[in-house]
Amino acid sequence: MAAPTLTEFRNEPYTDFSVPANRAAMQAALAKVRSEFGSIYRLRIDGEWIPTGDKLVSVNPSNPKEVVGIHHKATPELAARAVESAYAAFPAWSHTPARERVSMLLDVARILRARKYEFDAWLVYEAGKTWPEAEADVSEAIDFCEYYSREMLRLDGPQKVSQLPGEKDELVYIPLGVGVVIPPWNFPLAILTGMTVASLVTGNTTIVKPSSETPTIAAKFGEVLLEAGFPESSFTVLAGSGASVGDVLVQHPKTRFIAFTGSRDVGLRINELAAKHQPGQIWIKRVIAEMGGKDAIIVDGDADLDKAVDGVLASAFGYQGQKCSACSRAVVDAKVYNQFLDMLAAKTKNLKVGPSEDPANYMGPVISEGALKSILQYIETGKKEGRLVAGGGAAQAPGAGYFVPPTIIADVDAKAKIFQEEIFGPVLAVTKANDFEHALELANDSQYGLTGAVFSNDPAHLAEARERFHVGNLYFNRKCTGAMVGAHPFGGFNMSGTDSKAGGPDYLLLFLQAKSVAAKVE
Ligand code: NAD
Repeated sequence: MAAPTLTEFRNEPYTDFSVPANRAAMQAALAKVRSEFGSIYRLRIDGEWIPTGDKLVSVNPSNPKEVVGIHHKATPELAARAVESAYAAFPAWSHTPARERVSMLLDVARILRARKYEFDAWLVYEAGKTWPEAEADVSEAIDFCEYYSREMLRLDGPQKVSQLPGEKDELVYIPLGVGVVIPPWNFPLAILTGMTVASLVTGNTTIVKPSSETPTIAAKFGEVLLEAGFPESSFTVLAGSGASVGDVLVQHPKTRFIAFTGSRDVGLRINELAAKHQPGQIWIKRVIAEMGGKDAIIVDGDADLDKAVDGVLASAFGYQGQKCSACSRAVVDAKVYNQFLDMLAAKTKNLKVGPSEDPANYMGPVISEGALKSILQYIETGKKEGRLVAGGGAAQAPGAGYFVPPTIIADVDAKAKIFQEEIFGPVLAVTKANDFEHALELANDSQYGLTGAVFSNDPAHLAEARERFHVGNLYFNRKCTGAMVGAHPFGGFNMSGTDSKAGGPDYLLLFLQAKSVAAKVE
């Protein structure tokens, strides 16, 4: 098979839901997906469909009485079997020519594109995403497929190295082995797809252990991989508990690497477990770990306040603040502090919160009852640590979904819990800075370093921030969420993880190892 010829990478355009035909198509997809509610999904290991009897029930967070999917959970024994079977399949998969793997991956992109409304609808119902947030998630998944296809073709074959006299010198990239992919629920298609296809297209056999909050989206993605021609033995989607199944996958001596995205504590645990050598293990496991954030936006004294308010609002409350990139701290110059707060509070009070299937709502539910309780607890702490200016408690809505109104707490000190800890909900701490220097100090006062933004019209301040604002993804005069594949390779510093830069030119190298071959020539 010849290598596919590809046009330059372009981000997938978003569906415009103000167009009546698109709205109708989305409503039809919601109805279709709803008709599949409560379906039962079995495990599939090496082509065998396995019912285990122990079930994981996934619900609609807008209305938890509705069961979205029921999934047979893996046992620790089945997790070990999945690793063994992936190990056995590795030689054949790793020798499948890269152009064939790329061609399958392009098919994944094509199928996701054709079923975009349907995947949007699954995200609305299982992850509580509003229509535009779901659309951005599915589009990003397609982007990862398209981008990594091109990247794999670039990395296939001998790479350029200098040539010694009398030798033919080469460097080639080869796959690693069995990869374990552990994604979070908050980008249940995009991040799951990105990590999984990066592992597969580089020639690694792959086990995906999806989040227990969003297993149906993962199961549907597994169907797409099969339809696109990925062999049954090349991957397994393994629903199961992070704690029991996750530990087995991470510790297994035949696991070669782990690609994780999720919270700091789980990432650190995986890193520690993976570092421990197991009997029979003949490599050092590689860990790619992308973790939490406590992202800040600085609003300078001369900033365009309308733009700053819109940027902070979208970053703090889009998808209910449940993005690793979400703004959870606004650091505002004293000169404009009161004015900014008044403007932000006024706009925030107009945001509509309710079931995510209703496109009139700007915000849907948070993901689970556990998340709801934890966020409400942080709000209570925040009320003691600062001044509540918007939101403040659980919102009432039909179906008793997990709704939290957008909440702003002002006058928050840098030592406060709500300034330092990741809340992962629609809660924004606002802090006054004496000047720009102080604002930078406050923004950097964090164990995390994922995203950040600065609203300023002062070139010297922006230059200063470029140099000293210590985050993996820095934005000027725009929101700090919404990284685009190709343009904004994504990953953070310090406790935000290993800075893997997903969607960038360095990413696939994390799933490969380089081999140098030197041949004497007469
Ligand atoms: P989480 O850490 O609770 O779970 C992530 C995944 O790990 C899930 O699949 C879970 O089942 C699994 N898991 C749990 N315990 C495990 C264990 N002992 N061994 C192996 N796997 C285990 O995170 P979450 O609640 O799903 O996601 C939210 C978190 O993810 C936030 O902290 C957010 O900032 C972070 N996040 C980071 C990025 C990034 O790119 N840096 C992107 C998205 C989300």
